[in-house]
Amino acid sequence: METPATPVVPLRAAVSALPAYVPGARVAPGGRAWKLSSNENPYPPLPSVIAAIAAAAEETNRYPDMYASELVKALAGEVGVPPEQVVVGNGSVAVLAHVLQAVVEHGDEVVFPWRSFEAYPIAVAVSGGTAVTVPLEHGTGRLDLPAMAAAVTPRTRVVLVCTPNNPTGPVVQADELDTFLAAVPGDVLVVVDEAYLEFVRDPKAPSGVDLLAAHPNVVLLRTLSKAYGLAGLRVGYAVAEPRLAAGIRAVSTPFGVSHVAQRAALASLEPGAKAELLERVDALVEERSRVTAALRGQGWELPESQANFVWFGLGQATMECAAQATAAGVLVRPFAGDGLRVSIGEPAANDAFLAVAASWR
Ligand SMILES: *Cc1c(COP(=O)(O)O)cnc(C)c1O
Repeated sequence: METPATPVVPLRAAVSALPAYVPGARVAPGGRAWKLSSNENPYPPLPSVIAAIAAAAEETNRYPDMYASELVKALAGEVGVPPEQVVVGNGSVAVLAHVLQAVVEHGDEVVFPWRSFEAYPIAVAVSGGTAVTVPLEHGTGRLDLPAMAAAVTPRTRVVLVCTPNNPTGPVVQADELDTFLAAVPGDVLVVVDEAYLEFVRDPKAPSGVDLLAAHPNVVLLRTLSKAYGLAGLRVGYAVAEPRLAAGIRAVSTPFGVSHVAQRAALASLEPGAKAELLERVDALVEERSRVTAALRGQGWELPESQANFVWFGLGQATMECAAQATAAGVLVRPFAGDGLRVSIGEPAANDAFLAVAASWR
C-alpha cells in the first residue's frame, strides 16, 4: 500500500534555483592564518570608534533611529547631496536588494557583468527579475560596457555596473560610462556599485556624484565595510534622486541599521577619525602597488586592480592553487574553474601571500 506523500510548502522556483553565496574562507577557531579571502580591511576599528560602540551598547534596549537620520545627514554631507537623496541599509548588499525591490517587476530583465560580485545573481533572482549576464572583456577583467549597452532591450529595467569590478579589479572609465549612459534609455535604472571607491587612484575613473547630477536614472551604492573597516557592523547606502530614494526607503527593512552600527559609522566619519582611516587606505593602496609589482616581477599577468584585491585568472588550476595557499596559512577566495581573488592585507600577510604566489609558478 502506498503511503500518501506528506505535503510540503513549496519554495518559489526562483528561490529553489538560487546559487548559494559562498563566503570567503574563515580562520578556524584557535587556528592561525592570514585571511585574504573577503576583501576586509585588515585593521581593527580606531579606539574612538570602539568607544562609540561601547557607549551605544548601553542603549540597545531601545530601537534605533528608524531612518538613521543623523547618519544619513552625515553621509549626505560626505557625498555633497541633500539628506533626502541618501538611503542607508544593513550593508550595501541589503541596499541593492531594496533598490531592486523598488523597481523590478516579475520577469523584468536585469543586466549585469559576469564574472562580477557574486551577490548579484542572487539579489536579481530574489527580486523576481531575469538575469542577463554580459561577459567581461576577454583577458583584461574589464567590464564590456558596449556589450552591456547592446544587451539592453525594452524588457530591461536595471543595469548593474560594478566599478572597480569585484573580483577582477579594474574600473570603468568616465568617458566609457558617459557613452554607455547616453545609449541607455532614461527609464532604465543604472546602479553604479562603488564599494571600493576610496581605493581608486585612476584619474580616468568616473565621479559618481557628477553622474548622478547629469543622469536621474543613476543610483550609487556605497559601503562602510571596506575602506572604513566596518564590515562586521553592516552599513551601506544608496544615493539617488529624491523620488527614487523615497521608493528605496519605502521598501527598506524597518530599523535595518542597528544603533551600534549607526554610532560606529558616525564616529568613523568624524574628521579626525576619517583622516586616520583614509591614511590606512593610502597604506593599503601602496601595498597594492608593491604586491602588484612583485607579482609582475614573478611573471604574472594581472588585471589593473583599483580595489583592495588582485585577481588571478588561473582557470582549471584555481582550486589546487587555493588549497596550496590554505596549506601555507593564507586564505584566498577561489571561483572554481575561473580564477582566484586575493585581498590586500597588512604587509606581513601580503609577504606571506607573495611567497605562495611564487610557489604557484
Ligand atoms: C563588498 C562589496 C559590497 C559591500 O557589501 P556590504 O553589504 O556593504 O558589506 C558591495 N558590492 C561589492 C561589489 C562588494 O565587493
